[in-house]
Amino acid sequence: MEEKYEIGKMGFDRKPYPCHSCGRSYSRKDTLRRHMRDECGKNPRYICYVCKKGFKQKSNFQRHSANVHGFRM
Ligand SMILES: [Zn+2]
Ligand SMILES: [Zn+2]
Repeated sequence: MEEKYEIGKMGFDRKPYPCHSCGRSYSRKDTLRRHMRDECGKNPRYICYVCKKGFKQKSNFQRHSANVHGFRM
């Protein structure tokens, strides 16, 4: 236990699989792969400040605003 802690303190984290897109690290290759497939780059860039819904594309976001809230951003 203690050794692992020492290793961690020295900067060798136990997540040797970094995502080159966002910089997150993962301890397992399949976790990284899942991240890249399901998460990375899929974070919504446009957040509706009314209902906090996230959108990846501006056009969807604008359409949402118009249709759901009745105004355009
Ligand atoms: Zn990533
Ligand atoms: Zn909304």
